Amino acid sequence: MSPSGNIDFGDIKTSRPFLIAGPCSAETEEQVMETARSLKPLNIALFRSGIWKPRTRPGAFEGIGAVGLKWLQRVKHETGLRVAVEVAKTKHVELCLKHGIDVLWIGARSTVNPFTVQEIADALKGVDIPVMVKNPVNPDLNLWIGAMERIQNAGIKNVLAIHRGFSSIEKTKYRNQPMWEIPIELKGYYPGLPMICDPSHICGRRDLLQQVAQQAMDLNFDGLMIETHPHPDKAWSDREQQVTPEGLKMLLENLNIREKGVTTKKLKATLEELRELVDKHDDELIRALKERMDVIEQIGLFKKENNIAVLQPERWHEIAHTRTELAKELGLSDELILKIFQLIHQESIRQQTEILNRESSPAVMPPLP
Ligand code: PEP
Ligand code: MN
Repeated sequence: MSPSGNIDFGDIKTSRPFLIAGPCSAETEEQVMETARSLKPLNIALFRSGIWKPRTRPGAFEGIGAVGLKWLQRVKHETGLRVAVEVAKTKHVELCLKHGIDVLWIGARSTVNPFTVQEIADALKGVDIPVMVKNPVNPDLNLWIGAMERIQNAGIKNVLAIHRGFSSIEKTKYRNQPMWEIPIELKGYYPGLPMICDPSHICGRRDLLQQVAQQAMDLNFDGLMIETHPHPDKAWSDREQQVTPEGLKMLLENLNIREKGVTTKKLKATLEELRELVDKHDDELIRALKERMDVIEQIGLFKKENNIAVLQPERWHEIAHTRTELAKELGLSDELILKIFQLIHQESIRQQTEILNRESSPAVMPPLP
C-alpha cells in the first residue's frame, strides 16, 4: 500500500471527527428515514446502514437486501447525506454502484478472507468510489493491510481503515478487544491513511461508547463510526450497542477533540524541549542496556567455563519480582516493566546460549611450541 494513504475524501481532514452514523441494519423505510432525518442536524459526514448482514448462525436477521438501497437513495435525495453500505461480494458491489451508494465498506468477517476481498476488488476495477476496510476479526495486521492493498491495487484512490476491535478468547468488558497497539502500528506505517474508530463494535454495549470514542480522539483518529437507531432496544441487530440520535448528540457534546498537532510557535518550542529530554533519556537507556548486555556476556562465559546451565529459573523469579516491586514503588506500571524485563531476559538467555554453543576460537588456543 502506498504510505501516503492518498486521500482526498472531501472533508475527512477537516471535519473533526469525520462522523459516520446510522443503523446497524436497515429494517424498514420509516426507520431508515427517521434515523437519517434526526442525524442530519448533527452534521454527520456519512450515513451508514447494513443491507446484507453477515450473521453467525443462519436464521437470524440477514439484512433487508437490495430493497434497502432504494431507501438509501431516498435518504440521499431528501437529506443530502452521503450513504455507505457494507459489501461482501460482486453482486453487492454492482447493486450499490447502480443505486448511487457513495461509499462502500468491507466488514470484519470479509477482511479475513483474501478470496472475498479480491472478489470485491475485481468488481471495483475501473470505478472510483471510497472504500473503508474494517480490521479483520482476528488481530492480524498484515491481513488488514493486505485487504487494503487489494482494494488499492484495483485502482481505488480513497481507502480508509476502520478499527472495530478484535475477537479474543479472553472475556473482557468489550465485545471486541480494542488492542490499540494494532491501529497505532498501522498508522506508523501509513501516516496518511485515514483511520476511523468504530466504538459500537468494540464495546458491544452503549455505556462504554463515550470512553472508547474519547480514546480514539486522544489517539488522533480521524473519525468515528457509531451505530444509531431511533429505538435501539427494538433494533433487529446489535441492539445493546446502538444509541439514539439524541444519545449520539450527547456523546459528541461530551467528546474532547484534541488538536491534531502543535499549532503555535510557543507550543512547538516547549514540546521540542521536552522531546529533547526524552531523547536524552532514551540515549541513556540504550547505553545502560549495552552495559547490562556486556555483563551478560561475562556471565555467559563464566557459565560456559564452569559448565553451568544458562537458564536459572529462581534468578528470573527474583528479577521479575524485584523489578516490578521497584516499578510499583516509583509509580510505574509493573505490567510494563515486567514486559520489558521479559524481553531483556529472553535476549540475555539467547546470548548466553549462543556463547555456550560457540566453538572455542582458535585464537584462545595456546601457541604451539
Ligand atoms: C457492521 O458494521 O454492522 C458490522 C457488521 O460490523 P463488523 O464487520 O465490524 O462486525
Ligand atoms: Mn452492527
